[in-house]
Order: sequence, then C-alpha cells, then structure tokens
Amino acid sequence: MAQQTVASPASLALIEKLVGFDTTSRESNLELIDFVKGYLQDLGVESLLVFDTEKRKANLYATLGPQDRPGIMLSGHTDVVPVDGQVWTTDPFTVRRDAGKLFGRGTSDMKSFIAVVLAFAPEIIARKLDTPIHLAFSYDEEIGCVGVRRLVDLLRNMPVKPAMCIVGEPTEMKVVIAHKGKKSYRAHVRGVESHSSLAPNAVNAVEYAAEAVAYLKGMARRIAAKGPFDDDFDIRHTTVHTGVMKGGTALNIVPKECSFDFEFRHLPADDPDTLFAELKSYIAETLEPEMQAIDASTGFSFEELSWIPSLDAREDEDVVTFVKSIAERNDHGKVAFGTEAGLFSKHAGIPTVICGPGSISQAHRPDEFIAQEQVVLCETFMKRLIDRLDSKVA
Ligand SMILES: [Zn+2]
Repeated sequence: MAQQTVASPASLALIEKLVGFDTTSRESNLELIDFVKGYLQDLGVESLLVFDTEKRKANLYATLGPQDRPGIMLSGHTDVVPVDGQVWTTDPFTVRRDAGKLFGRGTSDMKSFIAVVLAFAPEIIARKLDTPIHLAFSYDEEIGCVGVRRLVDLLRNMPVKPAMCIVGEPTEMKVVIAHKGKKSYRAHVRGVESHSSLAPNAVNAVEYAAEAVAYLKGMARRIAAKGPFDDDFDIRHTTVHTGVMKGGTALNIVPKECSFDFEFRHLPADDPDTLFAELKSYIAETLEPEMQAIDASTGFSFEELSWIPSLDAREDEDVVTFVKSIAERNDHGKVAFGTEAGLFSKHAGIPTVICGPGSISQAHRPDEFIAQEQVVLCETFMKRLIDRLDSKVA
C-alpha cells in the first residue's frame, strides 16, 4: 500500500491557523493562546494560562482526560524566530502548499506539532482515556527557554504531575534522548581612560578583554583535543565560543570600557560552572592584579545571559522505551540544540524526550517548510499513542 503523504484536513487547517498568528518572540502570543483556549473550551476542556509579568504572553496548560493522575505531557513552544532580513518567496505567515511541502514561519519549528496534537484533541476526549494527555504550550522559547520557566515552577509543585513528557521539537520523528546545555555570560571590563601617548599610566579595557577572550579560546582548544567526548553528538565535545565584543572609541584614546559575550555549550556530563570558575580564577590571579596596580577601581564583572540545562535521559528509562515503541523505532539520537526538555526533566522532575515532525535544518531559515510526510508521521504517532493509552483497545 502506498504511503499516505497528505495530512488530514484537520491538521492542515490548524497548521494554517497557527502559522497565521505572528508569534515572533518579541510579539505577544495571546491571540494564538486565546484561539487554542477557545478551541479546547468548545471541547469542554478548561485551560490554565500562566502569564508573564506584563500579561503580554502566556503559557497554556490543559488536561485532556482525568485530572487526578499523572499521564503524558505533550509540549511545544508557540513563539517563532524573526523573519527580519530574510528573503521569503511569499508571506511567511500565510502557509503556502507546494509539492508536498508546507512553507511558512514555524511550520517545522514547531507549530505543526502543536496543530497535529490539537487536531487529535476531539478523539482523545471521545475515547475517554484512563490516562490523561496534558498539553503544555509555552512562549519565549527561542530567546533562551524563558517563558516556560513559570510553567515549570507550577509543574514542580503540582500534587499530581505528568509521568513523562514528549517535546515535539523537529527531529523528523526520531527519538532524541539528550541535548547539550548552554550557559552564556556578558563580561564587563572597567579600565581607565587616557590619551594613548600616556598608555602605561592607564588601563586598557579592550586589551584585558582580549586576553580573557584568548584564554577562553585556549580552553576551547584544550577541550576539543582532550575531551571529554560523547560520539553520539555531531560536535562530540563541549564548546566555548565568544560571539560579540564591544569597546573603544578612537585609536588615540586608551579605552575605559569593553564588553564581550561568551557561551559554554556543554555535554550533559560537563559542568559549565567549573569552566566559568576556571576563567574567573585566571582573571583574578593574572589580569586583575596588573590592572589594579594602576587603579584599584578597575577589573571584570559578569552577568549571566541565559542558562538552558542539558537533557540526559538514560537509554533504559521508561520514557525512552515508551516513546520508541510508539514511534516504532529502536534507535535514538542526541542533538546539539537546546530545548525546554532539559528544564522539564531537571527542574520539574518529569522524564522527557524529544520527538516531533519536521527538520531542524529547515527551521530558522527563509522559506522554512515542513514536508507533509512529516505531518502524516506525526498523525500516525498520535493515533498509536491514543490506542496505547486506551485500555479498551486490545
Ligand atoms: Zn523550536
């Protein structure tokens, strides 16, 4: 029998609807959330909204089925990355169907997953499952998994919390059991200004920043050469990277300020705090004494920019074997990109894996798309999940 490659009308209509809301992370996501809330309300399901401080954005949490038992949580983020500066063939917020593909911002990352889950909500309710399916839709994932943290706090303290979670980030429906963690910082270097002819009497913030960046580069080289390594990742070791550096105004002025942004993208087994401490002790022992010999007010300070914990599920964990059986796969993968899965697992104590339609290589790009085959695979996954949770199906 030929593989069905056309998604159901319900899934397609919901993908078109969700992509139509411009939920770029800087915008409010409330129109989308209100739509989902209304859709679920029509099915008799109440949603819990967890807002940000300004009430411009919200997470949505809803339970399909009995409220008093753990069940399976399906999770996705509602925000998308900007289209600024990208050249799109057609309007990014209107789905274009072409040759088995659906084009539009968020089709792969990750509104198609949310759409398919919602398309199955009527059936989940009609089947009166003994095991509930929880929906968790977040905001501000794309700017450092910021929004979901409020939901994670709530979940952690729930009397009955989900037994496991599937994050539907695009993995082409492969079961992903681990991702790297990321911690990023901004360093501020305070120097002392002077005319450049008097440089030895001043403290050059750009030069001391450069020495610290060079030290980070040395750490990166050491880790790349000596590990630790995990060959399941495409970049098989922790990486250290500086992405932004700002300082100085004119060549004949010794700069008094410089800042730079850097990150540790680490294997689950590596500790970013240890790496950060290594940098800080180099600065405290080598750079700051020299700076402060000239002026005691000089030195380095740091602010943490973002922190996404790694995901590190064991191969023999229940959530891994369960989701593999639903996806009908024996293999699993590990990915370098961060997701909310690490937060659900490490902070809310909910065993989590990633499995969703579409490909990360098609995300964040102009003319982002999802293949309809991927949507169909996700629909098949949902059918199998519902059958598995329905004790009335043999
Ligand atoms: Zn995503």
